[in-house]
Amino acid sequence: MSDFHCWAADRIAGAVGSGEVTAETVARHFLERIDRLDDKVGAFLQVDTQGAIEQARAVDRDIAAGKPPGPMSGVPVGIKDNICTRGLPTTCASRILEGFVSPYDAEVVKRLRDAGAVILGKLNLDEFAMGSSCENSGLGRTVNPWDPDRVPGGSSGGSAAAVAAGLATITLGSDTGGSIRQPAALCGVVGLKPTYGRVSRFGLIAFASSLDQIGPFAMDISGVALTLSVLAGEDPQDSTCIAASVPDYLGTLEGSLEGKKIGIPREYFEFEMHAGISQCVERAAQVYRDLGVEVVEVPMPHTKHAIATYYLVANAEASSNLARYDGVHYGHRNQEAKELVEMSCRSRSEGFGDEVQRRIMLGTFALSSGYYDAYYLRALKVRQLIRQDFDAAFEQVDALLCPTSPIPAFRMGEKVEDPMQMYLCDIMTAPASLAGVPAISVPCGFVEEEGRSLPVGLHLVSRPFEEETLLGIARAFEVRYEGSGRMPAEVL
Ligand code: GLN
Repeated sequence: MSDFHCWAADRIAGAVGSGEVTAETVARHFLERIDRLDDKVGAFLQVDTQGAIEQARAVDRDIAAGKPPGPMSGVPVGIKDNICTRGLPTTCASRILEGFVSPYDAEVVKRLRDAGAVILGKLNLDEFAMGSSCENSGLGRTVNPWDPDRVPGGSSGGSAAAVAAGLATITLGSDTGGSIRQPAALCGVVGLKPTYGRVSRFGLIAFASSLDQIGPFAMDISGVALTLSVLAGEDPQDSTCIAASVPDYLGTLEGSLEGKKIGIPREYFEFEMHAGISQCVERAAQVYRDLGVEVVEVPMPHTKHAIATYYLVANAEASSNLARYDGVHYGHRNQEAKELVEMSCRSRSEGFGDEVQRRIMLGTFALSSGYYDAYYLRALKVRQLIRQDFDAAFEQVDALLCPTSPIPAFRMGEKVEDPMQMYLCDIMTAPASLAGVPAISVPCGFVEEEGRSLPVGLHLVSRPFEEETLLGIARAFEVRYEGSGRMPAEVL
């Protein structure tokens, strides 16, 4: 049996592009694994077996006909189910969108297809990307491949678990306050949130539009670098996606760290965190010092306000974005209601889960007259102060380093009854989202809990549109970390 699930994306693309293996062979390998393992993992909401084989055959035909192979030829990918895919359901893991089939591809999906990638299916998430454990999904249950009694993180839990379990080489997620980075950390894979404006959101179902970004997951940094080169770049369909040039992120990975400086944001380490996690992160900082990188402490004084600010801004925007699910335009409609307002109310109450309803109410409250200035407007001002913390830090250093999550994967059910505890999972990731800067989570160690090894993620953050620097710095650590590429025993 081959081990394509242990191959990096560029290796698969190279082998398929040169005709050494067919895209169909690779696709069948992954489909067989999904068939065998996903009952346990629960990463996929939809598997497009037939469609994947057809796409793979089309890639093989083009290559046999001598067409230049795309940069992701035959690479099996999975898509978070809040990103539109033509002909497949796109549900946001919500009952309100159950059965909705998008008539078009999101720009990122189109770019992946054009690059030769093969789309295997759609991945589970917290409903409308609201959550940190995937337990808010209205349609499926995803577990952490390192310990099936624990959560994979969220909201892109399916995307992280699929890569960790070797069910896809690359997956896409979306990150509003940490939803790519935190599940990447909890599942022991690499997850990148690009700069706000780096990747088109056309076809991403909106949660909080001033924060949402799409980004890739992979087992290693080369995978996210290759995928970012395919995804990034201007898109006239998304006016926030800017016309900055797109470097060859994969080709520039091995650059030198000479002259680079890394900052440790002091305030991040004042929060309570698992002792094993701070040790792993301290060891990672030492790896950089040993490489000759100057590592200094930097102040980020507004960090403690990030969670409150994030949950005001994100919920306010969500309450507005989710107004479109009214029982008229999309999805679920209550059949018993006698008039329009009742129909909308009942459709929304039946279709949305508890957490989504909580956020719509909180967001509506923060935007309502009399409270707007005290909550929403004030949150915007604090957001500006948080941005300024990053600006000031990046005058001194090229990247910031901290844990991605203060805790490892927690037990299923442990936090569902306590939304505040769930929100605190975003403490390390939400500030970078508010500032719009790029950030990555890279595996950096394990902690032992009840006889299980649970992965730890290192969070690196850099200046806007400097993903090249970010990836280079992350790569320097990855090659020196002995746990890179380790997969959970159960799925090998
Ligand atoms: N956990 C955060 C939330 O619940 C982040 C979600 C996200 O980034 N989509 O809002």
